[in-house]
Amino acid sequence: MLAGWAHIRRDHGKLIFIDLRDRSGIIQLVIIPDKEEAYKAAKDVRSEFVLKVEGLVKARPGGAANEKIATGCVELEVERLTILNQAKALPFEVSKDTKDINEELRLKYRYLDLRTERMKNNTIMRHKIVKFMRDYCDTQGFIEVETPALTKGTPEGSREFIVPSRLHKGKFYVLPQSPQQFKQLLMVAGLEKYFQIARCFRDEDQRGDRQPEFMQLDMEMSFIEQEDIIRIIEGLMIELIKNIYPEKKIAQIPFPRLTWDEAMKKYNSDKPDLRKNKEDPNELALEWVVDFPMFSRDKEGNLGAEHHPFTSPKAEDMPTLESNPEKVRANAYDIILNGNEIGGGSIRIHDRTIQHRVFQVLGIKEEDIQKRFGHMLDAFTYGAPPHGGIALGIDRIVAILQGEINIREVIVFPKTGEAEDLLMGAPSEIEESQLQELGIKKAPSKALKVKIQTKK
Ligand code: ASP
Repeated sequence: MLAGWAHIRRDHGKLIFIDLRDRSGIIQLVIIPDKEEAYKAAKDVRSEFVLKVEGLVKARPGGAANEKIATGCVELEVERLTILNQAKALPFEVSKDTKDINEELRLKYRYLDLRTERMKNNTIMRHKIVKFMRDYCDTQGFIEVETPALTKGTPEGSREFIVPSRLHKGKFYVLPQSPQQFKQLLMVAGLEKYFQIARCFRDEDQRGDRQPEFMQLDMEMSFIEQEDIIRIIEGLMIELIKNIYPEKKIAQIPFPRLTWDEAMKKYNSDKPDLRKNKEDPNELALEWVVDFPMFSRDKEGNLGAEHHPFTSPKAEDMPTLESNPEKVRANAYDIILNGNEIGGGSIRIHDRTIQHRVFQVLGIKEEDIQKRFGHMLDAFTYGAPPHGGIALGIDRIVAILQGEINIREVIVFPKTGEAEDLLMGAPSEIEESQLQELGIKKAPSKALKVKIQTKK
């Protein structure tokens, strides 16, 4: 007995053939006129009908075997066939790759798009990768901990999503750009080795294939140095590729290391692509870029943290922290795969005085330091251990390993390049009553404003 979807139906004179599909693959059904009821039912079957069949598995007659599919040497001779549900004509065919189908249409009907072979495989391989990461962290002694999504801002250099509070009108939660502060606080708590498959939110102007929410393998450890983190992450990547993508080859082990200075001088990039043959889908070039600058200036000339303000400056550069911050290097590192940044982290500050100095160098007013980061400074006064960590971008890693150019291809329900969810229809207006409950008033839209002004 099997159940699944009618992938393709072919009438061959008397015989009816249906390719029945489920998650595991396809099997050919053959329905002969002798089985009258089944035959009658099979006549009505159309693409993507949901079927239940019972019958006998038989070897396909010689010559009829199809070596391209796993079940190609057998077929199921159907005795009983039940249509469990019907299907309208689909907006696009799911028995073919949807690469060339309009992406908006694919996203609107994502649940159909995900029926296609490539999208299904991407989803399953993503599961395998994430499971591997989780198991690896577990065997290395890491504890998985969930941290809150309704919280206060944590600076990672992006704009934040805010959530109005109903119970505290006029106040807002912020969705975390990363669990950065929580994971550091877990080190102060004595957890020693933390990880999380963490959802991160960043309200960026959408560039190419960025997503407003994305997943990281987020990690933090106590009593470690940069070398320990590099060793653990190299081990993870090497084992992951060996186990899940045995056909792929890592160009160089241990992964080459470049300082940020060297990378910029030699390649004019902080994520150079070190592949020898970019056409070879099985070549993977992994490398580390280390010793990033601690600060950089934006277009307006304001000093900002290159990684984030919890990153520790190199001890030998500390003397010029205030006098020449741009010369200060950080204990920060990125991991690069085929020219893509797939992760980054740093050894953190665990000393209250140094953390306070860094906030001051960043030009944050004393009052704001206390308001925004008082809890971190406070925590560092209660026996904070030396600690550091890293976060790997799961979407990007899965996309590269699956040979996809866009991360949307490896996310089941992604947003468009304009940060819209076309399937659910988000973002959307909400009821006036909901706004009232939240104590929020909509500002008149621009068009409305113009009208009011002209009236005056
Ligand atoms: N929180 C950092 C990020 O999201 C990663 C880290 O420093 O561990 O990029």
